[in-house]
Amino acid sequence: MIDTHCHLDLYPKPGPVIAEADKRGMFVIAVTTTPKAFLGNMRMIEGRKRIRVAVGLHPELVAERHREVEDVCQLMAKTKYVGEIGIDGSPPHKSSIKLQTEVFSRFLTRASELGGKILSIHSRGAAALVLDEIERNGMERCRSFIGSVARNSRSNVLPNSGAGSVSDLRCFEAGKDESFLLRCLAIGF
Ligand SMILES: [Zn+2]
Repeated sequence: MIDTHCHLDLYPKPGPVIAEADKRGMFVIAVTTTPKAFLGNMRMIEGRKRIRVAVGLHPELVAERHREVEDVCQLMAKTKYVGEIGIDGSPPHKSSIKLQTEVFSRFLTRASELGGKILSIHSRGAAALVLDEIERNGMERCRSFIGSVARNSRSNVLPNSGAGSVSDLRCFEAGKDESFLLRCLAIGF
């Protein structure tokens, strides 16, 4: 089993969850919401062979923590995994959408420069904007996505993407409506 989007550090007690995932032989991408959390997660999973930590800045936090953008960019050199990043267009975060888009674009540019990254992208209420940025940054190997705009009208413009891979991702964000979600995996695990 592979969980490509797990907020390990949001469990009340991550230790037993990590130990159990390890025992079951699960592959996990632990997404993080701030660069500081990335460093904390790296310490938490030390010695666990199948757990990887992604570095990110959650779009819901961009308005108050955009000063940490360059920290994320630096830490990207230390991991193949980037997330959680993206844009949130829901009412509480709509006012920062311009800043969120700039920050998201910066992360995509940095990921492209470094190459070979796997991205986990949040797109609640902003699927079209997120796709625009992905295309603008020339990320051609976008393999899987879920989004209300994405599947029907935009799938042709993203090579290798399509409905076939959508179900792979559905189980990873329990409780969230898939129409609000976009996940982009640049390459395999
Ligand atoms: Zn998440």
